[in-house]
Amino acid sequence: MSDYSWVTLATNDTYSLGALVLARSLRRVSTNHNLTVMVTPGVSAAMRAQLASVFNVLEEVNILDSKDEKNLALLTRPELGITFTKLHCWRLTQFSKCVFLDADVMVLKNCDELFDREELSAAPDVGWPDCFNSGVFVYRPSIETYNALINFALSQGSFDGGDQGLLNQFFSDWATKDISRHLPFIYNMCSSATYSYLPAFKQFGQNVKIVHFIGTAKPWLQYLDSESRHVKPSPGSEHLQGFLQLWWDIFCNDVHSTLSSEMAGLAGA
Ligand code: UDP
Ligand code: MN
Repeated sequence: MSDYSWVTLATNDTYSLGALVLARSLRRVSTNHNLTVMVTPGVSAAMRAQLASVFNVLEEVNILDSKDEKNLALLTRPELGITFTKLHCWRLTQFSKCVFLDADVMVLKNCDELFDREELSAAPDVGWPDCFNSGVFVYRPSIETYNALINFALSQGSFDGGDQGLLNQFFSDWATKDISRHLPFIYNMCSSATYSYLPAFKQFGQNVKIVHFIGTAKPWLQYLDSESRHVKPSPGSEHLQGFLQLWWDIFCNDVHSTLSSEMAGLAGA
């Protein structure tokens, strides 16, 4: 078995729906690598059972129950909660290399070549391209790096209050040092690019390998006609129709039938 893994995070049952579709999308493209999901106590037992049926590894993470001094210091900085939860991915040292994917990401084509890249590889952020977007990144699990990140966060904070600001400050030479650590945009095509640079999306959109539904228009919040199973994108998300429909096709075909009605009801407007 590979000692590489895809890694995602869910802190509640709604984001878990994203994680389930993400995992199915990775299985559809026949990845050779493991799938790991990190969950917090906010994910129900029933949802954990669903996640465990498609992910190889389900890792419980909780900053509050840790006994070590650094984690206790975090209790005084509650605003860094979600950020720190993501940092737990560096503790997955059973793997030699990982690719972190947000739960609002969907894989369209096999991307196993990402594991040839080195830490920290990521694609530019659409809002400030000298920063990388932290929804997709290649990294090497290491307790040393984890501790350094925690110390850095406690002393410096995060300029945007989230993991992206923190990781960009920590891996601060990303923009200039090594072009091989710049992932092509097709590995993290942020959904807002479809309207902010529509001609480029028309030209290159068919090459996209990973789509990232950033912002508030999450696929699970879109309206689905339950008869036709056609998604009706919310205003402003029309260019995403094809990607949103694929997300819902995977949800309907591979995920929905195994969910309780209560869990399935978390998706769809
Ligand atoms: N996340 C989560 N629960 C939350 C918020 C975020 O599990 O309440 C995780 C999830 O993996 C999500 C990631 O953190 O994909 C980053 O948040 P999000 O994708 O919403 O941010 P965006 O990409 O829109 O900036
Ligand atoms: Mn995201």
